[in-house]
Amino acid sequence: MTPEPRLRVVRGRGRATTLVDSAPLRPERREQCQERERLLRVWTDCSNRLMTLQGEEFAAMRTGGSISASFAERIRVARAADVEACRAYHQHVIEHDCV
Ligand SMILES: [Zn+2]
Repeated sequence: MTPEPRLRVVRGRGRATTLVDSAPLRPERREQCQERERLLRVWTDCSNRLMTLQGEEFAAMRTGGSISASFAERIRVARAADVEACRAYHQHVIEHDCV
């Protein structure tokens, strides 16, 4: 008697969840990609920094104050870093096709 093939759930990026044969993945894909993890941490740090600065800006505006030009520049730099970190993360995931 042939055993039932073991299936595993694959959640595709932008694709429907599918069931595929549970043959082992290629060795480099079995483990979580360390570079993807690193890029995600960088992106998270950038996003947190940006949110903190924007929170300070919002608090200043609520009390009728304004922010200095240097503070506005810090927000601009943080926003640019966040966009770049997002781009680097997604470019890696697309090119490396990693998990
Ligand atoms: Zn990767």
